[in-house]
Amino acid sequence: MSFVIDQELCAKCGSCIGNCPNRAIIRRADEVFVTEMCCDCGICVQYCTMGAIGKGSVRAEQDTQKLAKALKEKLSLFKNIAAMQYVDKAPEGVPQEKGPHFWCGICGDVFDEGGAPVLFSAKASTCGGVANLGLGAIKATREEFDSAINAQVVGEGNLYATRDVMSKNRNMFPHFSKVYAGVVIGSLEHMRKPDLVLFPVNGHQLCMISTAYAFDTGELITGFAGKSTCLMTISTPLMQNRPVFCAGDHGGRMFMRLKDDEILVCFPFSLIPGLVKNLDRTVFAQK
Ligand code: SF4
Ligand code: SF4
Repeated sequence: MSFVIDQELCAKCGSCIGNCPNRAIIRRADEVFVTEMCCDCGICVQYCTMGAIGKGSVRAEQDTQKLAKALKEKLSLFKNIAAMQYVDKAPEGVPQEKGPHFWCGICGDVFDEGGAPVLFSAKASTCGGVANLGLGAIKATREEFDSAINAQVVGEGNLYATRDVMSKNRNMFPHFSKVYAGVVIGSLEHMRKPDLVLFPVNGHQLCMISTAYAFDTGELITGFAGKSTCLMTISTPLMQNRPVFCAGDHGGRMFMRLKDDEILVCFPFSLIPGLVKNLDRTVFAQK
């Protein structure tokens, strides 16, 4: 880990515990210490009036290639791992997805085939789910909205929602602190510094992940069901910096090409190095 607490100086006040965005500092047996979940941000230092928190010797591993390889091996993942980075303009060398496309469809491509990063924006989206991703809503006139609802949503053989349900659903959109121009999506090993990491797992792999995450944090991973895959998977990890797992909705599962026994896990990238290290420390790692 990259930060350590000097136990001689520490007054055990707990101020750092509540202010670490990664929940990487814990109190155990009357000692306060930094765990493997530390991502090296340094935020805690300013909250310690005793000057007890300082740099340790080993930095957190942030190399996405190594992390992707380690996750795949330790969890025996069958598919590729996707990652996302929020941006205000396209990074150099990253092509723009022209669309029309679905966010969940692009994730499905990465899960199945891997792939270099592309920039996905609300403009390239064919689906209102981009509002759930923090990319804003597609601008549509009243007539366009009406015809989309009538042609694509209501009626036999179409999806399930009525206009009323769709309008009410708008109130469910998370309130992002800002709207981003786009999100770069690619396989984890091809991304430089992503914000979120997504991968499909089976029940056994989810047990391993939950145990490793809870090992130091003491927190269970929250599971969601009942709303669209983008809403349930993305907003909580992005805004609250904690992982979730999600069954997804029918459309999202279909576009992600998830098998019946696969569920989706989404982690803030800052928690991935700690997760990887803790996968070696739980009962699942014992021979
Ligand atoms: S994640 Fe940041 S705030 Fe938390 S212990 Fe590490 S350096 Fe401190
Ligand atoms: S803020 Fe400083 S003194 Fe208080 S528990 Fe954390 S390390 Fe110890």
